[in-house]
Amino acid sequence: MTDEIFSRDAYQDSTEAVVTGVTEDGIVLDRTVFYARGGGQPGDTGTISWDGGEARIADTVKQAGEVLHLPEPGAAAPPVGASVTARIDWGRRHTLMRTHTALHALSGIVYTDYGAKVTGGNMEPGVARMDFELDGISQEFGREVEQKLNAALRNDHPVHVSFVPRAEALSDPDLIRTKVSLIPESVDPIRVIDIEGLDKQADGGTHVRSTAEVGHVRVVKTESKGKANKRMRIELAEPEAGAGED
Ligand SMILES: [Zn+2]
Repeated sequence: MTDEIFSRDAYQDSTEAVVTGVTEDGIVLDRTVFYARGGGQPGDTGTISWDGGEARIADTVKQAGEVLHLPEPGAAAPPVGASVTARIDWGRRHTLMRTHTALHALSGIVYTDYGAKVTGGNMEPGVARMDFELDGISQEFGREVEQKLNAALRNDHPVHVSFVPRAEALSDPDLIRTKVSLIPESVDPIRVIDIEGLDKQADGGTHVRSTAEVGHVRVVKTESKGKANKRMRIELAEPEAGAGED
């Protein structure tokens, strides 16, 4: 099994590793910083380099429990057993971490203030959508939520990653609400992302350390996707030069 460094430390952008498998589909390493696509978060891109070669990695997926690094078409592959350096495209990943954290904050606010659960969601770097069990939605609602969201993000809530024993997770009301029981029984402990005071859910993705790092978020569209299913689209503002670097 690949050691998934990103699940403990989302800020590590590279690692030394050993190639444990190469198939037609991709490259498997003994450890990696590449996040495998899942839970609405895209897989990481980057490079795997070794003595004498380098492969651009176009995507990362989970296949049969392994993290599979997918090289761009025509890229060379390292031999099994080779020592490599695996490096993600950090700018893209950090934007995804900000985007993912924004979605959790949004889901926490819409649940706490309006009692609506999330029915789905997806993200790309800097843009995302989330669907809610709401009967109605309007532009005014979007603006109201946008204000609440940005106020909450500015309050700089710490974001904690923990690994909770399954039995404990299954009896936590916050985690029950976000359907922790649907996680396969073999998963124990369960990884939990807790944005202190805002949102708590079982989640495999990568997030920033505290909400101020997300920056400003705009609600760019509200739309109906059917009865009791309303969609909000959000967009991250680009961070100002030098902002957040203290
Ligand atoms: Zn998530």
